[in-house]
Amino acid sequence: MQPERVAVVGAGAVGLTTAFDLASRGVRVTLFERDDPGAGMSGRAAGICYDAYAEDIDVAVADRAMERFRELDGEGDFRFHETPYVFLAREGDDPALSALEEAVEQMQGHGRDVSLVAGEELDAYSIRTDDVGVAGVCSNAGWADPEAYIDLFVEKCERAGVEFRFGTEVEVHADPPGVAIDDVVTERYDAVVVAAGVFSGRLLESAGHPVALKPYRVQALVADCDYSGPIVYDATDESYLRPHPRGVLAGDGVELAEADPSDWDPSADDWFVADALGAVAHRTETDRKTETDPKLARAWAGLCGATPDRNPLVGEVTDGLSLAAGWHGHGFMWAPAVGELLARDVCGEDVIPTPFDPGRFEGTESFDVLDGMVLEE
Ligand SMILES: Cc1cc2nc3c(=O)[nH]c(=O)nc-3n(C[C@H](O)[C@H](O)[C@H](O)COP(=O)(O)OP(=O)(O)OC[C@H]3O[C@@H](n4cnc5c(N)ncnc54)[C@H](O)[C@@H]3O)c2cc1C
Repeated sequence: MQPERVAVVGAGAVGLTTAFDLASRGVRVTLFERDDPGAGMSGRAAGICYDAYAEDIDVAVADRAMERFRELDGEGDFRFHETPYVFLAREGDDPALSALEEAVEQMQGHGRDVSLVAGEELDAYSIRTDDVGVAGVCSNAGWADPEAYIDLFVEKCERAGVEFRFGTEVEVHADPPGVAIDDVVTERYDAVVVAAGVFSGRLLESAGHPVALKPYRVQALVADCDYSGPIVYDATDESYLRPHPRGVLAGDGVELAEADPSDWDPSADDWFVADALGAVAHRTETDRKTETDPKLARAWAGLCGATPDRNPLVGEVTDGLSLAAGWHGHGFMWAPAVGELLARDVCGEDVIPTPFDPGRFEGTESFDVLDGMVLEE
């Protein structure tokens, strides 16, 4: 049955999309955000989007998300920049080469428009190719500015009648569902949706429902240079880059260890900046073409959420209390689809894929943090 009043906690890409989709279905929505919209990890995302997945369920979510990004293109200041996604393994890197070939085969088996090409066939893409052993080229891909997505959904939520409570940190309760604004005020709702990103684990634990979610630290930078090529993921050094109005946005710097979401370093490490600028110069060949090195414009770190099996935690944790978190670095590109799925689920439609069910884990098990952007399982 459709609830009358729902609280959504977290105004990132996922919470805003969920709040809008609930309000569009006639639900009265209150959106709580302890800071400003996008102040969590959505404002730190690279904004890369693609459908190059090898599993059925990921493919279905990516398809819907890409469809929606394209529908949103041109609304307000939001733009979806169609850009091919080239993922490559370097010559001599045998594990990455065979993992890439296998991944492309699986993607093709799931109907993805992805082709396997040799390095020399990439010449049209204006990137360095002489070290490439093999590459996958995915044409259903692009990038968007996450801040523009946040701004657009704040506007859309406002027009749909969502009540904003920004600057309000809350705790959540189950049985009955509600949010506590301080020790004195608890507001009751028919349902509460926790979309608090990597902070969701703490919120649910204090509500008595631990979930299998661990934050880990990643890094990115923007470099001034001249680049209009594809999005590139280098599986050999596990780095990525995409075009950016200033030149290139690049990232890797993944720390495969649990981070403390209330005590982490939001600035980028020197080693990361040096490595990433080197990777940009190498792959875009800006140093050779222009005889100038890419220059650092800004660099930052952020947290991603890991689960034991790399699938997210989406759906009801207990009666009236739902969760959407654990994206392994894919939360922005999945937000348009996941927000919609969650809104439909809260309204009583049984649409959440079983592999996303938060109840598949006890929430107390120990597990290692695994990176999300990998080709091999
Ligand atoms: C450097 C970097 C690059 C990335 N690149 C990509 C990419 O290219 N593509 C991609 O798909 N993903 C990428 N990601 C991952 C992406 O940023 C996240 O998966 C996504 O933003 C998660 O969105 P969210 O809405 O779930 O969480 P968030 O955006 O973190 O939103 C959660 C919100 O909840 C609020 N909150 C927390 N606790 C409370 C509370 N108690 N009360 C009220 N409010 C609360 C926070 O302030 C925050 O605003 C990247 C991440 C980083 C760090």
